[in-house]
Amino acid sequence: MSSIEVIKNRFESYDTMYNHDSRVHTFANWPFQEGCNCTPDKMADAGLVHCPADNEPDVVCCFFCLLELEGWVPDDDPWHEHIKRSPTCAFLLLKKEFTELTVSELFHLEKERVKAFIKKVSSMKMAEFRDGLDKAQKSIQSKLHPD
Ligand SMILES: [Zn+2]
Repeated sequence: MSSIEVIKNRFESYDTMYNHDSRVHTFANWPFQEGCNCTPDKMADAGLVHCPADNEPDVVCCFFCLLELEGWVPDDDPWHEHIKRSPTCAFLLLKKEFTELTVSELFHLEKERVKAFIKKVSSMKMAEFRDGLDKAQKSIQSKLHPD
């Protein structure tokens, strides 16, 4: 899983990823280019952006809900994989093509994208806090009850 800093950088740059072609272009070095379910076009249809790391070459991220997915095989259906793990992603639930949205609908959608970012970062911060709490508790207990 990516760090909060990486998630923040993605959130700030992904406002350009509402555009389908921009998402497709991120898949230039994607291993599944044709003849399968997870081609760049189908990945982009599902709102996904290719964001590989050194040790994770097939990591993709939804530009909208920031869900990360990896471990792709040619038979994987990107839309299905995305909605299975993020059933409330507002991009997937859109009833219109992006180019058909009114300005008001776009502002509403962008508000939902901000909410998804805040929710994701908040849950990551809470997980960090719980980990810190567990470590502090173990440290205190080992001092109270040394072996
Ligand atoms: Zn999503």
